[in-house]
Amino acid sequence: MSDTPGPTLFSRIVAREIPATIFAETETLIAFADIAPKAPVHILVVPKTEQYANVVELAAGDPALLAELVALADTLAAEHSDGDFRLIFNTGAGAGQTVFHVHAHVLAGDLKEGSLG
Ligand code: 5GP
Repeated sequence: MSDTPGPTLFSRIVAREIPATIFAETETLIAFADIAPKAPVHILVVPKTEQYANVVELAAGDPALLAELVALADTLAAEHSDGDFRLIFNTGAGAGQTVFHVHAHVLAGDLKEGSLG
């Protein structure tokens, strides 16, 4: 959390201090199963750097890394489901963000019931 001193929860997963089911890892990103899945496939894709608290900061500070994140989400949705997916960045506590280390929720599987459109 942002007001907790020291590494974020997700940095501790990167460091293997907290166990997680890891699906992919690159030089810059890690992807692992959400501990409380909200869909048949629910993967978090996280930049290894904890420099950016949310997607707005990431987009402004390192748009290429944001593009890498989206590409990895696409790859994971194809590997773990039919390739269709929802990409969610909760931004701010009022929107439900609880970990202030930017991360994308990749939701896939049978999502039609909860469609936002
Ligand atoms: P946010 O609410 O910040 O958008 O998303 C944080 C996500 O992290 C939540 O969906 C929550 O279930 C997940 N989460 C919280 N603690 C852990 C943990 O220790 N391990 C994993 N794999 N996911 C976690």
